[in-house]
Amino acid sequence: MVISKLKIYDTLKKETLLFNPIHPGYVGMYVCGPTVYSNAHLGNCRTYISFDIMFRYLLHLGYKVRYVRNITDAGHLEGDRDEGDDKFAKKAKLEQLEPMEIVQRYTVDFHQVLAQFNTLPPSIEPTATGHIIEQIEMARKIIANGYAYENNGTIYFDVEKYAKEYPYTQLSGRNLDELLTNTRELDGQEEKKGRLDFALWIKAKPETLMRWPSPWGEGFPGWHIECSAMSSKYLGSEFDIHGGGMDLVPTHHTNEIAQNFACHQTNPAKFWVHTNMLTVNGQKMSKSLGNSFLPDELFSGSHPLLDKGYSPMTVRFFMLQAHYRSTLDFSNEALQASEKGFIRLMKATKLIDGLKVKDATTIDLEGLTASVYQALNDDFNTPVTIAQLFEGVRLINLLNDDKETINAEDKLALKKLFTEIVFEVLGLKEENVAGSEKIDGLMDVILSIRQEAKAKKDFSTSDFIRDRLKTIGFEINDGKDSTSYLTL
Ligand code: AMP
Ligand code: ZN
Repeated sequence: MVISKLKIYDTLKKETLLFNPIHPGYVGMYVCGPTVYSNAHLGNCRTYISFDIMFRYLLHLGYKVRYVRNITDAGHLEGDRDEGDDKFAKKAKLEQLEPMEIVQRYTVDFHQVLAQFNTLPPSIEPTATGHIIEQIEMARKIIANGYAYENNGTIYFDVEKYAKEYPYTQLSGRNLDELLTNTRELDGQEEKKGRLDFALWIKAKPETLMRWPSPWGEGFPGWHIECSAMSSKYLGSEFDIHGGGMDLVPTHHTNEIAQNFACHQTNPAKFWVHTNMLTVNGQKMSKSLGNSFLPDELFSGSHPLLDKGYSPMTVRFFMLQAHYRSTLDFSNEALQASEKGFIRLMKATKLIDGLKVKDATTIDLEGLTASVYQALNDDFNTPVTIAQLFEGVRLINLLNDDKETINAEDKLALKKLFTEIVFEVLGLKEENVAGSEKIDGLMDVILSIRQEAKAKKDFSTSDFIRDRLKTIGFEINDGKDSTSYLTL
């Protein structure tokens, strides 16, 4: 059995508490997945990288983890309050595709993007469209328990009734009366009894493309019910961790908790875990604000706010330098520092094998190991973990310069510590060639030959070089004054 010293912050109790799973040795974790109607931006990636670290650390501790992360492929309207167009239908019209073609395109993009960041796939990735029956069933139970009502083919959750018995706003910490006074009535929603009521099932309009039969006529599920239905199906009505970005707290997760209490009389998750936002000049990165970056724009350096491109592992390393509950602001300077730091960490990791072995160890390896685990056990504190690893880098460099010594057993332990924490838990990986001095030198030679060919208008040679490099994983970017490359 795993003995845990891990502490995690729970948004619901507003406390950092010792983590002990409901079933010893097993962890159930549900994370709200993407709405696949557009490319995943870097902000989305930050959230999934944060949960990837948690997943990896729980596995490292020896737990059997079932990590469920859904794909929202139906039912997400533009507004959080059942107003506006369906996101998939709107995009489908714009791109002249079927809604399911939109879903497929952006699901594939999401997987590719996360794979570049070396995140592990979840254990189960259920889709909303694949669980219509479960969502109808849950809505039916909530109606039977008296917390939802039908009006003209749409099913609403009765928030005011629920809030008389349960603390509806506990997760967000908002004041219910203020919410009631400040929430405006939306046009066309006079079917609701109360202005905070939200839809579990929405009646299809004649033009609605994605629609399913139900006991209440043809329609489609509301956004919140999918996560309640799928988390209960795969993890049970009570499981260990439920996560998502902090922006999901006031509506999506508040409503999920309400649905679960109304259906199963339980709070689904022992720990509600929320990741903070990636910001640009202090403002949340979001598609609607127009300040979002696509990972590819960052890797190639093509985004106007960037000085140059950064590799996926540099970006992952940059993300880990803030605690997941703090905001992280995007800047060229921070990325440059991360690039240097990442290379320094990788270089030191590589030095361990070649360290000379002596009879005695003069460094405090036990202290280093303890402080690394202390940081990870402190609510997955990656910035402190990295600071401790850099203390390790300093020691490795001293050992390499014969200023300290290490015995054979400790050398193995040092290697194990670095391999397990850097690669397994932080999920970093060698980007083999990028950034290495020899390859940079070699590429300089090749790119100057190509430059000469271009100057002589010998475009068949310059294109040949570009295309051949691409097939072996190097992408050439022709800038205004210079040419750079990146590994794919
Ligand atoms: P969506 O596809 O819009 O449902 O978002 C997917 C996930 O990304 C959700 O958990 C959001 O909370 C999260 N997210 C959106 N924007 C950001 C951001 N700027 N920083 C971190 N996470 C974000
Ligand atoms: Zn969700």
